[in-house]
Amino acid sequence: MKIIDLRSDTITLPTEAMRQAMYEAELGDDVYQEDPTVNRLEALAAQMLAKESALFTASGTMSNLIAVLTHTHPGHELILGSEAHIFWYEVGGVSTFGGVVMHTVPNDQDGRIDPDAVAQAIRPKNIHHPQTTLLCLENTHNRCGGAALTPEYTSTICQLAHQHGLRVHLDGARIFNAAIAHNAPASELAKDADSICFCLSKGLSAPVGSLLCSTREFVDKARKWRKMMGGGMRQAGVIAAAGIVALKTMVNRLAEDHATARQLAHGLAVIPGITINPEKAQTNIVMFEAPASIPTPEFTQQLDERGVRLIHRSERWMRAVTHRMVSTADIDKALNHIELVIKDLG
Ligand SMILES: *Cc1c(COP(=O)(O)O)cnc(C)c1O
Repeated sequence: MKIIDLRSDTITLPTEAMRQAMYEAELGDDVYQEDPTVNRLEALAAQMLAKESALFTASGTMSNLIAVLTHTHPGHELILGSEAHIFWYEVGGVSTFGGVVMHTVPNDQDGRIDPDAVAQAIRPKNIHHPQTTLLCLENTHNRCGGAALTPEYTSTICQLAHQHGLRVHLDGARIFNAAIAHNAPASELAKDADSICFCLSKGLSAPVGSLLCSTREFVDKARKWRKMMGGGMRQAGVIAAAGIVALKTMVNRLAEDHATARQLAHGLAVIPGITINPEKAQTNIVMFEAPASIPTPEFTQQLDERGVRLIHRSERWMRAVTHRMVSTADIDKALNHIELVIKDLG
C-alpha cells in the first residue's frame, strides 16, 4: 500500500540530482568558512533574497533562535502573532536562551497582525516595562493555513515597526511559496525586513537546512551565536550541495503543490460533513474542520489505517500539506478515503 503522507512537506526526500550533487560536493571546514559549497549556497541565498549575506543553519528553528538572539538582549521583548511558529513550536527557545519576553498580538485568518494592535503593544518608556525591540512576522503563515502575506502589508507593518525603533525578523520558512502565491520575487517580500530565514527542507525537498539572510554585520554576529549553539558543522557542503540544487531547480515547482492543495480543498468542500473555505488554500497547506460527530484523533487514526496521513491540530481542525511526493491521483485517492471514513464513523 502506498502511503499518501500529507502530514508535512518536510517529509520530502532529496531528488536524484540532489544526491548526485551531495556525492560530488567540493568540501572544506565551514567553521573556517572554507567549505566552497556552503559558501556558494550562502551567496546564492543572499542574492535571491537581495540581502548582503546569509548563514547556513541546521534548521528553521535554529535560524529563528539565532536571529532573535542577534537582534535582542536579555530582558528585551519581542512582538509576534498569537499563532506564530516561534511562539508555538520552538520550545520557547528565545525565552530560555535569549531571556526575551514573547508578547503576542492576535493573528487574523490571513496570518496578519493588525498594525494598530502592534502599535498598542509596543511598551512606552517606563522603568517597570521590558523594552520592546523586535517584531517577528511569518510568511507563509503555518498555523493560519499557509496564508501568504502581501508585499504591501509587509512594507506597511515593517515601516510602523521601524518608526518605533523596532527591528523586524521575518520567519519565511516557506517564503518561496508566498512568492509564488503573489507572483512576486521572494526578495520583494523580504525587502523591508531586517532579517529573513527560510527552509530548504520543506517543499524545496532538500534533506536538511535553513538560511538566515541579512546584512554582513548581522550575519557575522549570527555566525558567532551559531557556533555557541554547537551549530558549526565542518564539511557541511555535503548537505549544502542539495540546498543549491533546491534553490536552482525546485522553487518554481512549488506551484504544483499549490495546485494539488487547491484540488484537495475543492474536493473536501463537496464532502458532506466537512467544513472548509477552499479559497483559503492559498499555498500548500489545507486546513479543514472534521464533522462535529467524529473526534479528530479517531479520524486521523482511521485514515492512517487506510494509508492516508494527516494531522489534527485540535478537537476539530485538521491539516494537510501538499508536496512533491503526492500526485493529483494521490489527492483523488485521499479524498475518496476521507469520504469513506466519514461514512464509516459518521
Ligand atoms: C517549519 C517551520 C519552522 C521551523 O523549521 P524547522 O526546520 O522544522 O526547525 C519555522 N517557522 C515556520 C513558519 C515553519 O513552518
